[in-house]
Amino acid sequence: MELGTTEIDRIEAVMSNYSKTSELAKVESLAAIRATVCSTDLGFVLRRSQEWSKASVGAFDITVGAFSRLWSFGEAWAVPDSVNLRSALPSVDYNLVQMTGDTLRLLRPGLSLDLGAVAKGYAVDRVAAVLRNEGVHSGLIEAGGDVRFWGEKPDGSRWRLGIQHPRRRDQIIEVGDIGFNALATSGDYEQFFEQDGQRFHHILDPRTGYPARESVSATVWTDNAMDADILSTAAFVMGPDAAMAWIESLPRAEALLFFERDGQLRHRYTSGVTGHLQIALP
Ligand code: ADP
Ligand code: MG
Repeated sequence: MELGTTEIDRIEAVMSNYSKTSELAKVESLAAIRATVCSTDLGFVLRRSQEWSKASVGAFDITVGAFSRLWSFGEAWAVPDSVNLRSALPSVDYNLVQMTGDTLRLLRPGLSLDLGAVAKGYAVDRVAAVLRNEGVHSGLIEAGGDVRFWGEKPDGSRWRLGIQHPRRRDQIIEVGDIGFNALATSGDYEQFFEQDGQRFHHILDPRTGYPARESVSATVWTDNAMDADILSTAAFVMGPDAAMAWIESLPRAEALLFFERDGQLRHRYTSGVTGHLQIALP
C-alpha cells in the first residue's frame, strides 16, 4: 500500500488548492501572464475538466475557485458577503481557461482554479493504475465517495457496492453490477453548515456563487473515477431534470439522483440502473 500513498502525496503536491507551493498554484499565477506548460498529470486533469465544462455547459467549472475561496468550507462557516460574491462573478467562466495540449493560458488575471471536484477521482485512478502495474490483480480503492475497483473479491465473488443514503446516516443503498468499474457521489451532507434554517454546502452553482439548490446527492457510474467525480458534481448542479437527460445522452454513464420536492426526499435514475437498486427507496 505504500506505493499507493506515495502516489497520493505526489498528486497532492501537484493539485492541492490549499498549498501555495503546489504546481497548480504556481502555474495559475504564471498562466495569467503567458502560456505555461503543465506537467502531464496537471495537463491531463485540466484538459478533461475543460472538456466536461463545455459538455455540461458550465455546471462543472474549475474557475469556481473565485467563489469557493470566499466560502472557505472547512475553515470559516459563514455565508460570504454578497458584494464579494458578486464581484467574483466575472472571474468564474471556464471560457477564460485555454488548454492546448498541456499548455495553459488564463485569459483574465485573478482567476482561481479549484480542482476539488476532480483531483480526488484522478488520485483514485492513479493509485489503481500503480497497483495494477505492480501485479495486484484485484482491488477496490475508495476516497471520500470516489470508487474504482477491478477483479473480484478475495473469495472470488463480485464487488458489491453501497451508496450512502443522503439523509439516513446508517443506511446504505445497494446497487447491483451495472457494468462499470468506477462511481462517485457528491452530496449536500459532506461539508455544510446551517444558518437561518438554511443548509449551505460546498457544491456551488457557478452561475450564482451560492450552493446549488436542486439536488441532495448525485451518484454517477462510468469507466474511471475522475470522470465519475466530475460528472457527479455536474449532475448535482444541474438538478434532476437536466442531469437525467444529460447522463442518459452520454454513451458510458449512469446516474442516481436524490432531491427534495414539497419537503419529501425523492429520487430518479437513468435507464441502466433500472432493476438494480437492491432496496426499496422512499
Ligand atoms: P466531494 O469533494 O465532497 O466528494 P465534489 O466532488 O462534488 O464533492 O467536489 C466538491 C468540491 O469541488 C468543492 O469543495 C469545491 O472545491 C469544488 N466545486 C464546487 N462546486 C463546483 C462546481 N460547480 N464545479 C467544479 N468544482 C466545484
Ligand atoms: Mg465530484
